[in-house]
Amino acid sequence: MKLYEYESKELFARYCVKTPRGSVAFSIGDVLKAIEVSGLPAVLKAQVLAGGRGKAGGIVKISSIEEAVREANIMFKMKIKNEAIKAILVEEAVNILRELYFSITIDRFHRSYLVLSSMEGGVDIEEVAARSPEKIIRKLIDPVKGLRDYEVRSIAKKLNIPPSLQTSFMDIARNLYRLFIDYSAELVEVNPLVVTSDEKLLALDAKVIIDDNALFKLPEFSGKAKEIRDLSETEFKARMLGLNYVELDGDIGIIGNGAGLTMATMDLVYVYGGKPANFLDVGGGARSEVFREGIKLILEHPRVKALFINIFGGITRCDEVARGIVESIKNIGVWKPIAVRLVGTNEEEGRRILSEYGINTFTDADEAAKYIINILKSG
Ligand code: GDP
Ligand code: MN
Repeated sequence: MKLYEYESKELFARYCVKTPRGSVAFSIGDVLKAIEVSGLPAVLKAQVLAGGRGKAGGIVKISSIEEAVREANIMFKMKIKNEAIKAILVEEAVNILRELYFSITIDRFHRSYLVLSSMEGGVDIEEVAARSPEKIIRKLIDPVKGLRDYEVRSIAKKLNIPPSLQTSFMDIARNLYRLFIDYSAELVEVNPLVVTSDEKLLALDAKVIIDDNALFKLPEFSGKAKEIRDLSETEFKARMLGLNYVELDGDIGIIGNGAGLTMATMDLVYVYGGKPANFLDVGGGARSEVFREGIKLILEHPRVKALFINIFGGITRCDEVARGIVESIKNIGVWKPIAVRLVGTNEEEGRRILSEYGINTFTDADEAAKYIINILKSG
């Protein structure tokens, strides 16, 4: 789950990582109160989950109350990358000497944490990586040993942190690392981490992404996960139903039982020249209700033109699957081409149920994939 900047900064505050003085506003009234905290001049920062707010007009400096009201009114009506702005973070304007980049993330390949930093902050790190990769400092962190002081000192040196800010930088790195671990984060990013003209280090921006699988143990966020955030409408419904559903950008809906089989099904679709619109892993032993809801979810998606169901019945019974498919199709009343590959427990019964409704079944997944892709290609 992505946290808003203001939520991320609330966490930063708990971990003694300094950010500009300010507070969040949900209305014009709040903005006026927030200015009492931030003082003037201040910066209005649109709270959206999408990146690149600065360029999209989501960051505006103001130097009077009148200007703040005018700009906040515009901002509350604005959208950034289709995201409505419901909150504005009002912060003291800061005099910046240098902008650095600092983040902690996971390097799955090396089974480590990864601290990324750069002297070039304030711009997209992806941009820096593409343009001048040598400007990015990468430090793999052994998850057992944790972030060690000598590692932080070496990063500080490479970032040219002046001696006067050495301790401050050490504290920030260590505290952000603690936050990263405590909150099972996938990303803690400060871009930019700034050196101010009065020689302080401040986290000017903050971004935290929490691993969705850890939300259950974080009561303060598990409630919020239920709000629609970076989830699409369908992803949100699936989350509510407890289904493992992921959205992609092709036109073939995919359902499989088990993560491995579902991934392999996606690969098959790609191999035969198709593109998955989404995929749903119904897991092992799924009952017909789960199929009914899952299929409905996928077929209702406007981008889905055809459905490919790949079931290897072990504890999942093929007749249950078949009933779920039939029920959902009766329910939805829209017809889209379907290929079902069905093998395993009770497969004869499953196939019989489906054939009554004229639904094609296959025992070979390759054949099923080719069938559905050919239908799409021939329109
Ligand atoms: P982002 O565009 O969503 O990453 O938003 P940031 O909070 O990172 O702000 C983008 C840029 O705006 C920063 O890199 C700064 O250059 C500038 N900026 C933001 N707040 C201030 C401020 O208080 N003072 C100054 N001088 N610049 C700011
Ligand atoms: Mn930023």
